[in-house]
Amino acid sequence: MAPELPNAGNDPILIFYAGLLGAVIGSFLNVCILRWGAEPKQSVVRPPSRCPKCGRGLRWYDNIPLVSWLVLRGRCRGCREPISGQYPLVELGVALVWAFMAWRHGFGVEALHGAVFTTILLGIAMTDARAYVIPDEFSLGGLGFGLVFALFAGRQPLGTALLGAAVGFGLLWLVAVLGGWMFKQEAMGGGDIKMMAMVGAFLGWQGTLLTVFLGALIGSLVFVPLTLAGHKKLVPFGIFLALGAAATYLVGPAILTWYGGYLGRA
Ligand SMILES: [Zn+2]
Repeated sequence: MAPELPNAGNDPILIFYAGLLGAVIGSFLNVCILRWGAEPKQSVVRPPSRCPKCGRGLRWYDNIPLVSWLVLRGRCRGCREPISGQYPLVELGVALVWAFMAWRHGFGVEALHGAVFTTILLGIAMTDARAYVIPDEFSLGGLGFGLVFALFAGRQPLGTALLGAAVGFGLLWLVAVLGGWMFKQEAMGGGDIKMMAMVGAFLGWQGTLLTVFLGALIGSLVFVPLTLAGHKKLVPFGIFLALGAAATYLVGPAILTWYGGYLGRA
């Protein structure tokens, strides 16, 4: 077991700082979503951020998470064209996630584990929604994070993480093969398969199964009405898997315990 930092529990100052750190990470996540989802893929380091409309380079004071967007009232300092509301929303979302994890788990490895996992899931959902891709940087990079947490943070044995990753990868690969065979079209992209290997490394095999179940459930609740309404647009399944994985992280143990008890009584 790695030494845990002293559990700060509900210390409002630490929760605030966790939120602040989350806002900065959310600001970087915006860049990742935009550039990793671009065709062709772009570096997240270079070039520095510019206004997509007029090309004006952003100064440091234009880049302060949430604050800059509010000060500029959502418009570029140069051309006054509107800046997408996605930027402050992602920054706010990640800030709230990091603050929530610090509040829920105190200041330590478990909070970091949950915050990193949920941030990657948000990145995947946003990129899949915008560009219909799940970049390897999120899926395989996240898989790396999950294994590192298992190796060094002592959150779960490495074997559990590896088994989870194998189950996630294998299950979705099977769905892809069977789906392609049954429907004669691509049912599942390679991005989803790699994404579920990442989810498995964080949640273990039980959590992986629950994620796929919840993802399919949420997906069909959205899918079926859309299809019945004659909507033919491709629906990015990664969003539903991300929602299922976040739900599993938050309430999965409770669901599995309840289900285990339910089976025990049956
Ligand atoms: Zn501009």
